[in-house]
Amino acid sequence: MASVTKPPLLFEIFYECQTTKARTGKMSLIHYPVDTPMFMPVGTQGTMKGLLPQQLEKLDCQIILGNTYHLGSRPGIHVIQKAGGLHNFMNWKRALLTDSGGFQMVSLLELAKITEEGVKFKSPYDASICMLTPEHSMEIQNIIGADIMMQLDDVVKTTLTGPRVEEAMHRTSRWLDRCLKAHQKPTEQSIFPIVQGGLNPELRSESAKQLTQRKVNGYAVGGLSGGESKDDFWRMVHLSTDLLPKNKPRYLMGVGFAVDLVICSALGIDMFDCVFPTRTARFGCALIRTGQLNLKQIQYQKDTRPIDEECNCSTCKTYTRAYLHHIVTVETAACHLLSIHNIAFQMRLMQDIRQSIKNQKFPEFIQQFMLNLYPNQEYPAWIINALKAVNVTLL
Ligand SMILES: [Zn+2]
Repeated sequence: MASVTKPPLLFEIFYECQTTKARTGKMSLIHYPVDTPMFMPVGTQGTMKGLLPQQLEKLDCQIILGNTYHLGSRPGIHVIQKAGGLHNFMNWKRALLTDSGGFQMVSLLELAKITEEGVKFKSPYDASICMLTPEHSMEIQNIIGADIMMQLDDVVKTTLTGPRVEEAMHRTSRWLDRCLKAHQKPTEQSIFPIVQGGLNPELRSESAKQLTQRKVNGYAVGGLSGGESKDDFWRMVHLSTDLLPKNKPRYLMGVGFAVDLVICSALGIDMFDCVFPTRTARFGCALIRTGQLNLKQIQYQKDTRPIDEECNCSTCKTYTRAYLHHIVTVETAACHLLSIHNIAFQMRLMQDIRQSIKNQKFPEFIQQFMLNLYPNQEYPAWIINALKAVNVTLL
């Protein structure tokens, strides 16, 4: 009898919204199954800032993101190799996704220079000249062992226009081919290509066309959420999801504001990641459905309510706004408590999105969500436009 090998990624769509482009389903990965649409918290140094893997499991996180650049430079790839991969190293048993390292490099290192070969940079530790090539990115990501790896792409500033954007788009396709060729564990790990093309519809369409000719298990939409107008942002997402195959997962990189998660789920995105919920926690901000609470503000000094009465996270069940105000930005415990709440908030939002798609109530969910956020119905034009594109009119 022939042995049946489990694919490294199996994507099943269970329900499609009849009004918008949203869908809900399951992505089965080697380490863990993940419900979609979903949000991935970002664990920069192999740990979530302020949270332990066990706490993330309790919060129902099914997949998290690890930064290749940070892991590759510190502790160094040999330490992770010795541990048998990042799962073992950080004691995380569920699914993992790693970025290529390129974006971090270009955004963090002033001296990064891109050539056809790869990204050339000066090591921030010993000032030596290093080169991240598509092959090297794959080598590192194969050692880290995440369920999903991102291709090395040619990153340009979102708001840039002109021939450099076109060059980056074509180079991204060439680098995808080099990544696919260098990939050593195709039965365990999947590579996601990244649709580029800046804010130019023709280039984005061409990018999607080129990438969909390759044999891959899912796609990412990149180069957005970098300072472009919100109208440009949603139009590029809408265009990309129209061109990508329906039966493969679609990942919108670097997006995590609640309103963007709702709208981009309606535009057909299945996966999101962002440092925002944990970063904003460090500044004393708690996420709620009507916006944010800045717990540093004096108005919370005597407020004995939890952050959110309807939230069942351990922070809301145990602590008052007054207590959090007292320790916020002074004690690391406050960052920890707010991170728990903010991750719980993201997880519950995604769960509500999935449930409403399943119940064929997603348009109603969107209407109510936006009304909670804008009780005086003064909706920004981009939200009205984006939702109109998927047949939803706000209340
Ligand atoms: Zn909470």
